[in-house]
Amino acid sequence: MINWIENADLSSRNSLGFQVSAERFIEVDTVEHLELALNDVQHNQWSLLLLGGGSNLVLKPFIPGAVISVNLQGINILVDDESSAIVEVGAGVNWHQFVGRLLEMGLHGLENLALIPGNVGAAPVQNIGAYGVELADCFHSLTAYDRKTAELVQLNKDDCCFGYRDSLFKSREPGRYIIWQVRFLLSTVFSPNLGYRALSDYFDQQAVTAPGAYDVYRAVCEIRQSKLPTPDKIGNVGSFFENPIVQEEQYLQLKQRFPNLVAYPDAPGSYKLAAGWLIDQAGWKGHKAASVGVYDKQALVLVNLDKGDSEALLGLAKSIQDSVMEKFSVSLKMEPRVYPA
Ligand SMILES: Cc1cc2nc3c(=O)[nH]c(=O)nc-3n(C[C@H](O)[C@H](O)[C@H](O)COP(=O)(O)OP(=O)(O)OC[C@H]3O[C@@H](n4cnc5c(N)ncnc54)[C@H](O)[C@@H]3O)c2cc1C
Repeated sequence: MINWIENADLSSRNSLGFQVSAERFIEVDTVEHLELALNDVQHNQWSLLLLGGGSNLVLKPFIPGAVISVNLQGINILVDDESSAIVEVGAGVNWHQFVGRLLEMGLHGLENLALIPGNVGAAPVQNIGAYGVELADCFHSLTAYDRKTAELVQLNKDDCCFGYRDSLFKSREPGRYIIWQVRFLLSTVFSPNLGYRALSDYFDQQAVTAPGAYDVYRAVCEIRQSKLPTPDKIGNVGSFFENPIVQEEQYLQLKQRFPNLVAYPDAPGSYKLAAGWLIDQAGWKGHKAASVGVYDKQALVLVNLDKGDSEALLGLAKSIQDSVMEKFSVSLKMEPRVYPA
């Protein structure tokens, strides 16, 4: 299948709900069609954006060149033994539906990543993570189309260079690989990961001592729904900034000045600060500009209030970064990608 649209409206294909028009939008689900589209991209020297669910992108009103979306479906068990299984998923599968399907199949490890918007193909790009689990924890390998060598390649976990909200695809070789299929190594035995405070508190309150896989899945969905706006109703891209990592010396200085500072030990000698707390303390929670604002239940989430656009949102983001820098001397890095840059 190839679906080729000139002057495509991408308003419903970005979770901020911005009015966006693309010069051309091309959706493919076979390698032959992908190659056909890429030949045109190369021949015409079009700029190229790969688009999944559009939930980690701040799109400007006009996207020149081409937008390619991989719509490959399919969830297949490749290897299956008593304790584990390797599952292969098409890049076009919706992430949350995939997590739900794994539960039905009795395969475990990704429950804490329920309800993250977007497609499987984009999930390795920023090594999605939530509630104490990252994609890398269950990642096996992937198949991607390498634009440099014009062939399908297999990349294992080490090749992908996963880090905190980072991977080969995001920072080292952006634009080189088009992720086609992702393989996960999952367990047939469920072992809850309740290391994240909000999750353990949830079960403590319910007096549940040994939650099952469905309990954890439901808890994650419930907590997320209580804290994060649903993009269908209020446009957003989830966390707008990464949690900054600082050296121990800076952490100790900040802790002395701000005893309530929210931070977690990271790699030896460094700490991860809660960006939401910094933004909240700088007075931004619930802030409303004309068309965009800061979500009133979670300061880390910037929202499209009413016909906002990238210019208004990036202006607000810059003001937040400046004021956090002024108050804490901490630099906030944006999590979503701005396109065109
Ligand atoms: C309400 C909300 C909550 C969120 N919560 C979380 C969270 O808890 N944790 C978290 O990590 N993220 C979270 N996110 C961010 C987002 O959902 C994830 O980053 C998700 O993986 C993006 O998927 P997508 O398909 O929408 O990607 P897109 O936004 O379409 O693309 C993201 C990036 O991936 C690239 N890309 C897309 N498809 C491919 C492909 N096939 N091959 C190569 N590159 C590709 C794009 O070019 C772009 O650079 C949240 C977002 C929202 C709106």
